[in-house]
Amino acid sequence: MKRSNPIRQLQKNLEELKLDAILISHRPNIFYLTGFTGSSAALLVFRHSAVFLTDGRYTEQAAREVKDVRIRWARDGLMPEAASVASKHGARRVAFESRHITHDMYLWLRRALRSKSQLVPCIDWVEELRAVKTSEEVAKIRASLRTVMAAFEETLPVVRPGIRERDLSAELEYRMKRHGAQKVSFDLIVASGPRSALPHGIASERRVRRNEFLVFDLGAILRGYSSDFTRTVYVGRPSARAREIYKTVAESQASAIAGIGAGVPAAQIDYLARNVIERKGYGRNFVHSTGHGIGVEVHEAPLIGTRSTAILRAGQVITVEPGIYIPHFGGVRIEDIVVVGDRGCHNLTETTREFITL
Ligand code: ZN
Ligand code: ZN
Repeated sequence: MKRSNPIRQLQKNLEELKLDAILISHRPNIFYLTGFTGSSAALLVFRHSAVFLTDGRYTEQAAREVKDVRIRWARDGLMPEAASVASKHGARRVAFESRHITHDMYLWLRRALRSKSQLVPCIDWVEELRAVKTSEEVAKIRASLRTVMAAFEETLPVVRPGIRERDLSAELEYRMKRHGAQKVSFDLIVASGPRSALPHGIASERRVRRNEFLVFDLGAILRGYSSDFTRTVYVGRPSARAREIYKTVAESQASAIAGIGAGVPAAQIDYLARNVIERKGYGRNFVHSTGHGIGVEVHEAPLIGTRSTAILRAGQVITVEPGIYIPHFGGVRIEDIVVVGDRGCHNLTETTREFITL
């Protein structure tokens, strides 16, 4: 998947909407557009140029990371500096990321621009671009995912009754990092027994027991890109009910993955997953969306859910993660990452989807 420079895309949007500039303030968007990994920056994109602003702590880092964009040291704060640069460029209509700016920042801008310019709220300009990945981005997501899959496979032999969830999460994080991950992309979920019925059961003090489910939902960040991976294993001998639940989730996921391709509504993928679970009578136990886009952030566009209006496009990278959660009994979730193709999709998750019993 090749794409022209994303800053150039924003400049086309500016021209089409007769805007003079857009102020990018959301960190993941700034990273995506410039490669800057620090915590304090803003990017002003004009129709024919762009200015990157950061504070004194980051000027040297910015010089190394940010290419092809002029860098400016914002001595008096990012927003006042952004306003002053916009004014100097004679920008009259300035767009801003209304979902990613605090009320305080907005007031700062308003005051600094005074009546000279109009502020225009914009939503998802960069998120829209981010949703479709280049082949380099797919390679980074795959590399990030591989650290997680390797850590998972190496950690399975350590699982035994009596071990604490938190010991397992520490083991996993250590191994992910040994395989090259920079950090975890979220608090690792290691949820055993009744806690496996919590879709977000962050690893706790609980000790794993015999004859229960154990859900691992893991993610790493590598070269700025996230991964997300879930497998559910069973410690002991699963009951017929446990097997049926696992099989249903696996079939639900397979049904959704088989339906993925460019031009397919995201809501239809959610339906394909949900329908399998509903037909087995567990509809009320599938309490979340089927998946989400992944890239610079763990959760990004497109959402794969009941109310999603997105149409899948080739090059999008999404998760497929149906689950069944039964309070006081346990839960099962299986999550893979796939790349949407012109026809079908390519699954990046190589770990088996068979029911693993330990
Ligand atoms: Zn996950
Ligand atoms: Zn996920």
